[in-house]
Amino acid sequence: SVPLSFFGGIGGASRAGILIKGSNYLETLAKINTVVFDKTGTLTKGEFAVEQVVTLNNAIPVLAYTSALEQDSSHPIARSIVQAAKGEKLPFVTNNREIAGFGVSGIIDGAEVFAGNDKFLKKEHLLLPKISDIGTIVYLVVNNQLAGYLIVKDQIKPEAKQTIQALKKLGINQTVMLSGDRKTVAADVGKKLGLSQIYAQLLPQDKVNYVEKLRANATKVAFVGDGINDAPVLATADIGIAMGGLGSDAAIEAADAVIMDDNPAKIATAIRISRKTLRIVK
Ligand code: ADP
Ligand code: MG
Repeated sequence: SVPLSFFGGIGGASRAGILIKGSNYLETLAKINTVVFDKTGTLTKGEFAVEQVVTLNNAIPVLAYTSALEQDSSHPIARSIVQAAKGEKLPFVTNNREIAGFGVSGIIDGAEVFAGNDKFLKKEHLLLPKISDIGTIVYLVVNNQLAGYLIVKDQIKPEAKQTIQALKKLGINQTVMLSGDRKTVAADVGKKLGLSQIYAQLLPQDKVNYVEKLRANATKVAFVGDGINDAPVLATADIGIAMGGLGSDAAIEAADAVIMDDNPAKIATAIRISRKTLRIVK
């Protein structure tokens, strides 16, 4: 049977805005020595803004095409692009499809169109333009030709830095960020927050492999993430924690605990509560 104070611990966590889906996770939380974060929507707000639109082929309206492809995507990058194109006449898209960790594709005016990151361009052996700005890039490819790109920017959450510091105070020095974004963007965020390890340009499966590797080293791993793309890695960690506000239904479903208000600092709160509860139980 479950000791009564476990319910107290779960209740305390829920009053602090963290829903824990079972008393076994309270025990796991108390033993966590590594916290792995997703970047977008977890350590950053996940509220992108389009900062720049670069046209490389005058026949193609870059913002309208990209926005048309992104219309049905719930990815925060997609939402920012659709927002920026509000009021513009969008072309008609068929065969619209989202490719997790890459971007979106479809057919416009008989042309094969893709909007997303450089992993796709590399796969198609397309030449990458040199871009020195720190920002996430969404390339637009039309019939295998680069037609332009957008630079979108996100912001670090105000509570993110204190989250890493609070974890260090709890003796958790292994704080890792796994991101699907560009190296320059991930490195910039990681340095500002003082994370111990940063990995960028990862596909959802790469995130799973990395967490499996950590667990094999007798490490108790918490993964904190928000997105559709995070469901597999949430299930792989010793405890998967999803953002309840921004988080996709799939992520909330796959998670073992949910942070209701998306404040990453609640992970430290949850660990503190779990340790206290376990001391009482023992
Ligand atoms: P993160 O690990 O930063 O949360 P994701 O795994 O959700 O990122 O996505 C990784 C990368 O894939 C993004 O940085 C972006 O470059 C690209 N991407 C994913 N979905 C989309 C989309 N709908 N539109 C454009 N780019 C996308
Ligand atoms: Mg994400």
